[in-house]
Amino acid sequence: MSHTAELIAVGTELLLGNIANTNAQMLSQSLSTLGINVFWHTVVGDNPERLKAALDIARCRADIILTTGGLGPTYDDLTKQTICEAFGRKLVLHPDILEDIRTFYESALHVPMPENNTQQAELPEGCVVFDNPVGTAPGCAFEASGIHVLMLPGPPHECETMLRRCAVPYLRGLSKEVIVSHDIMTFGMGESSVDQLLHERMSHMRNPTLATYAKPCEVRLRATAKADSEAGAEAMLAPVVQEVRDALGDVVYGIDVRGLEDVCFQLLQKRGWTFATAESCTGGLVAQRMTALPGASAVYRGGVVSYWTDVKADVLGVPQETLDTYGAVSEETARAMADGARRITGADVAVSVTGVAGPDPDERNNPVGIVYVGLSTPDGTFCRRCDFGPRRRDRIQGLASNHAFDIMRRYLTGLPI
Ligand code: ATP
Repeated sequence: MSHTAELIAVGTELLLGNIANTNAQMLSQSLSTLGINVFWHTVVGDNPERLKAALDIARCRADIILTTGGLGPTYDDLTKQTICEAFGRKLVLHPDILEDIRTFYESALHVPMPENNTQQAELPEGCVVFDNPVGTAPGCAFEASGIHVLMLPGPPHECETMLRRCAVPYLRGLSKEVIVSHDIMTFGMGESSVDQLLHERMSHMRNPTLATYAKPCEVRLRATAKADSEAGAEAMLAPVVQEVRDALGDVVYGIDVRGLEDVCFQLLQKRGWTFATAESCTGGLVAQRMTALPGASAVYRGGVVSYWTDVKADVLGVPQETLDTYGAVSEETARAMADGARRITGADVAVSVTGVAGPDPDERNNPVGIVYVGLSTPDGTFCRRCDFGPRRRDRIQGLASNHAFDIMRRYLTGLPI
């Protein structure tokens, strides 16, 4: 039987717009990988009557209620008390938890525990306790009349830790089925084109299912199967993944990878190669994305952010004649930038990006969204011209950095550039 969850985030600062409800996003992502439907997100302030009203609504339309926030020691932290009243549970003091909180204060914070922290050691009678190794407020879960109520703390780091360590195993235990998902990552085809190719197939699928998620600059497909065992789910997923590969061809760049930079990292590492960057309109984004990966130093030598034309000439060695004749945003300059980065760093390959991120056209009237991506390799120098149109600056930069990685992964896998 599939479960339906409602997330209730408790906190007046969420309603005031002081903070974003990032816990809801993180929890929803995790619940979907467990195959639990999330049909409702509710946000309610630190107010017992309104929280009670939200719980009354949630219990009619969901069989899992997951709350975050309001587990702290202050007067406005009222999640536990209100839930206990709503579900007719008593709050009982757990002396061992109280001892743990006291020890946390004394040994980690070097101060005596304030007395009002005692209420953090009070939990609903008969609940499963969720330890909090990174904070003081424990969470918990209990079942009442077929509804599972789970309470997690508000601070995102505590919420996520408790989710992973305690809530996910608890939720897995509610179903005998195993749910396995694979993310099929694509780049180079818009969401509507992907949808057109796969819509007919997707709309008839029940188990496994296939869904598209458009990230700002690429499309991800998630294939999910429910089965009695992991091996069973994997066996159901294999043909779906293959079908998507057959339909989309080489726009599929990886399965269960975080992004194009991950794939480039792995391909370079396999060859024992290094790469370098020469970036203009992306301002170092390609370098930033690569260096965000642990172990990047094995493949990334360095780069130049050559924003000014002088820097393109003086540091990267782009011939002045090229800059004068074709301009900074041109195929010739992109090629020379990539060659320059490869030469000065000694890397095996180098990528370059030069273009117009907007909001205004450049001095040669190149329109916003024109970007040239260069690639210098032992087999020659390549260039791709992209026209992203008049989009937001950060979108153009994001897309351009994706193209830089895409051109590199295509070269490294022998695909046409
Ligand atoms: P504490 O023990 O710190 O009091 P708590 O469980 O009572 O934890 P809250 O007091 O409601 O949690 O929130 C503590 C902080 O956690 C908030 O100030 C906010 O920074 C962050 N936070 C709370 N709820 C959310 C949420 N839904 N999304 C993102 N951040 C949140």
